[in-house]
Amino acid sequence: MLTTAEQLPIRKNIPLAPLTTIGLGGSAKYFLECKTVEHICAGLEFGKHEHLPVQVLGGGSNIIFSDAGFSGVVLKIALKGIHFDDDGEWMIARAAAGEVWDAFVHACIEKGLGGIECLSGIPGFTGGTPIQNVGAYGQEVKDTIEEVKVLERATLQEKILKNAECGFSYRTSRFKFQDLGKFVVTEVSFRLHKNGRPTIHYPEVKKNVEAAVPLSSLADGRESLEAVRKVVLSLRKKKSMLVDPNDPNSKSVGSFFLNPIVERKQYSSLRNLWKKIGDGSEVPVFSFEEKMKISAAWLVEKAGFAKSYRKVGAGISSNHSLAIINCGGTANDVLALATEIENRVFEKFGIRLVREAVVVD
Ligand SMILES: Cc1cc2nc3c(=O)[nH]c(=O)nc-3n(C[C@H](O)[C@H](O)[C@H](O)COP(=O)(O)OP(=O)(O)OC[C@H]3O[C@@H](n4cnc5c(N)ncnc54)[C@H](O)[C@@H]3O)c2cc1C
Repeated sequence: MLTTAEQLPIRKNIPLAPLTTIGLGGSAKYFLECKTVEHICAGLEFGKHEHLPVQVLGGGSNIIFSDAGFSGVVLKIALKGIHFDDDGEWMIARAAAGEVWDAFVHACIEKGLGGIECLSGIPGFTGGTPIQNVGAYGQEVKDTIEEVKVLERATLQEKILKNAECGFSYRTSRFKFQDLGKFVVTEVSFRLHKNGRPTIHYPEVKKNVEAAVPLSSLADGRESLEAVRKVVLSLRKKKSMLVDPNDPNSKSVGSFFLNPIVERKQYSSLRNLWKKIGDGSEVPVFSFEEKMKISAAWLVEKAGFAKSYRKVGAGISSNHSLAIINCGGTANDVLALATEIENRVFEKFGIRLVREAVVVD
């Protein structure tokens, strides 16, 4: 096993900001681009040997490194390869963790495979998608993931975790909480419908697809899936939810906060409070299992943070109230604004917002 900086293609003092969508953070003391599982193992061994923390990095779209940088080893996942295995009316699509997620979605749609079309345009790599069970417009990866191949960091053994073993729920999984830092995802497999009909649960997508061309006039498979992809990409663009170097509102980690899930009793208290102090509007809410999911965007706005709000070098996107953006500032500016929002929401509504993005210092 290669374990010294001289033996590995490891680099020193690599700036991390350009490797993240929000463009923030200092440098990594050590940095290794992992094109093979052996590289990942060697990087982990190197960290152990040097008594340094090891941070896995995918596409950098849900992570904020501190301004001081990371005084350990960053392993940038660069595993590549997409394979399709026929399974009757289904196709199993396997993507290595370093495959760009949206390119994979597009490749599946081109083959007429249905099930992930509404997840078009989400930035980052395929290996990052099971971490927080990414979702958008009524689809989540948990709906189609067959299994996740992982490398256990402590033993360097590869394992296969079936969907039911991944602990998926709203924007979470075992990888994000109970087994945080235990595994490196190396490959994700999806069970997709051959000649798939798009799954549209989201009224905004349905309305826009129908307005462009009636779905009933489109053939199942590639044609109708492409139509949904097109609408999703255009909706995301309007909300600056596509990473675009020409759009300063997309210099973010996407939604900074999760939609809080509260007991029904807490929701009733919130509704009563809002009846007293509010503007007569309803609190936007959705049932979530036995509980209620409250719109974090609504809480942020009603706590006094409108779109386009600016504070030092950070701000709120003009097109999405949950996206905190880097306006030429520092990680500290962004995190200070996040804390200010959290405190104000708590003072006003008694609800603690939970961050979706990972902060590494
Ligand atoms: C403009 C914009 C829009 C977005 N829209 C959405 C959206 O609609 N829905 C949604 O759910 N998310 C959204 N996101 C968030 C983000 O794109 C996803 O969470 C994405 O899956 C993160 O993948 P990544 O490869 O960029 O992970 P990174 O940001 O590199 O890493 C995030 C975390 O995952 C871990 N990780 C990454 N890869 C691996 C791996 N192979 N093994 C183990 N751990 C790993 C990292 O260690 C880190 O803790 C958006 C982000 C942006 C910037």
